[in-house]
Amino acid sequence: MNPQLLEKETLDSQQRLAALVQEGRKDSTLRIEPLPVKGYEQVVKVTDSKAQLTAIIAIHDTTMGPALGGVRIHPYASFNDALEDVLRLSKGMTYKSAIAEVGYGGGKSVIIADPKTQKTPEMMLAMGRAIEKLGGQYICAEDVGSTTEDCRIIRRETKYVVGLPQAKSSGNPGPFTAWGVFRGVQSAAKKLFGTELMEGRTVAIQGLGCVGSILADYLFWAGAQLIVADIDSARAKSIASRYDAKIVSPEEILFTECDILAPCAFGGIINDQTIPQFRCKAIAGAANNQLLRDSHGYALKDRGILYAPDFVINGGGLLNVAAELEEMGYSPSFSRNKIHRIYDCLLAIYDIAEKSNDSTHAAAIALGDYRIKYGIGKRLVPPTFHHTIE
Ligand code: NAD
Repeated sequence: MNPQLLEKETLDSQQRLAALVQEGRKDSTLRIEPLPVKGYEQVVKVTDSKAQLTAIIAIHDTTMGPALGGVRIHPYASFNDALEDVLRLSKGMTYKSAIAEVGYGGGKSVIIADPKTQKTPEMMLAMGRAIEKLGGQYICAEDVGSTTEDCRIIRRETKYVVGLPQAKSSGNPGPFTAWGVFRGVQSAAKKLFGTELMEGRTVAIQGLGCVGSILADYLFWAGAQLIVADIDSARAKSIASRYDAKIVSPEEILFTECDILAPCAFGGIINDQTIPQFRCKAIAGAANNQLLRDSHGYALKDRGILYAPDFVINGGGLLNVAAELEEMGYSPSFSRNKIHRIYDCLLAIYDIAEKSNDSTHAAAIALGDYRIKYGIGKRLVPPTFHHTIE
């Protein structure tokens, strides 16, 4: 586009947003009602009739620092479904943060809306005003259904947001998450074979999106033999031809014979149906909530399959976005060096599990509980917000 036209369009959209901010603050219809939930520090229902917003913000635990977690936008079938999801997700963030030692607590928010058809700037501004009212106890970020552009709109009303499309931001978390997953795959190799070297090891990757495709890069250059699958066959073909990988169908990938299976598509893939069919020695991938139920961690142990707990191995994205709030400002090398240590953390978890004859998932939860109990990794200085309103 012509640069002058582009500049004019940007200015127009900024003016429109500024007008919406004024409009939303005038005769505000924002309501924040407490929803007491046992075991959670603060849960609130947020509504704004003018902005057609119905949301829930859940702060599970702030022992380690302010709660950090994304804004999920989803057309939940009922308010109770949304509540159940936000409670589960915010608690998950407490453990993910405690294990990553980022100095943040666990929080999450959900907006009940279809992100494709119902999301509006007014809705995001109202959400920003609600987050501001919590006074920094909850810091939001993008999540399923929300984008960095939505975070930029939220920033008009509150500074308690990370991951904006700005020069000082951490940007696309994919490569950072993938680096943590790569280190996790190496930790599994170390535990299984006594060496982290990937030469000659076979890794099967399910899903070649933002994380899986970059994991394929890292693994190829480390010498691994790859087996890949994606429902997007063009994507699978492109990675396969680039890296001499074998393609299998999305139906086959979980049950293909390999050293390490890396699920990088979606959750719930470790369940009663899949566990007897796995033909891998370890599972180490990016997908969230890989175990359908916690008990499936024990079923994997019984089958002798090593499991890298998802909320540990995929902590790279969180570590990267949290780095934005360091006093010195965001630095990719700082993030990389922290993410590098996911390897050591996982080795420690495998050892705890072995010594206590427990599943690695249970061992990771126990490690998180221990850190929270003794405040190991607790935030000592408040976060620094470097973002500006654009
Ligand atoms: P993405 O949407 O970019 O990629 C997912 C890929 O999986 C897509 O290419 C999709 O076509 C493919 N896929 C979907 N169903 C499939 C199937 N049945 N078989 C094979 N492939 C299938 O997502 P992403 O950002 O790469 O994230 C992958 C997983 O990792 C998700 O579970 C996500 O929640 C989790 N995760 C991602 C990050 C991050 O930084 N992006 C951080 C933590 C956790």
